[in-house]
Amino acid sequence: MCLSGTSYPEVLAAPVPPPATEHGSTGDKWRPRLPVKVYDYAQVPSSVIGPAEREAGRILIEAGINLNWLTCRVASSQEPIAPACQEGGRRGLILRIAPHGAGSLGSLALGFTQPDPGGAAYVTILYSRVRELVRNHVASEHKILGHAIAHEIGHALLNSRTHSATGLMRAQWSASDWRLADVEQLRFSRQEAAAMRSEVVRRAELELPH
Ligand SMILES: [Zn+2]
Repeated sequence: MCLSGTSYPEVLAAPVPPPATEHGSTGDKWRPRLPVKVYDYAQVPSSVIGPAEREAGRILIEAGINLNWLTCRVASSQEPIAPACQEGGRRGLILRIAPHGAGSLGSLALGFTQPDPGGAAYVTILYSRVRELVRNHVASEHKILGHAIAHEIGHALLNSRTHSATGLMRAQWSASDWRLADVEQLRFSRQEAAAMRSEVVRRAELELPH
């Protein structure tokens, strides 16, 4: 990624229609849950991280994908760690929320992803950049964090660092994109959603006994 910001030229992003159901892709077809192990190194307030996960989960559900959040590290370190966090496994995603990013990253980047088709993909969100956008009043904090997480999960499941011209996978979100996000209209395209669903199924099959 990518992203941000109030300084980017405003481009009107057309709303992306919800994923198709006529092919059974989001209907009653078997839909595996994708585990997402969350490691919070930025001490994100619980009043933000929970709603942000729900926001990202809603966006992914619209794409036909159910996420299974596993809290693997919390700010206080007092809460028990989910047993599943200790397990290996190649199909899930690792979400790390870092306090800030390295200097080599673009100044507008909200995060980055290391796609790994053969293993657990690492998704990193830079919390300082999220806070920067909060200070610029582009959207509420959980909206920004949730959309950033969904975007990076998109990279991980598309196994690609490329961006689209419109929608959630744009490289830069304009003010009009944030307005769409505010009314839950900033989405993956149908093609992106279909490719991501295929990847979730492929990852689930990696762990089936052969
Ligand atoms: Zn991106």
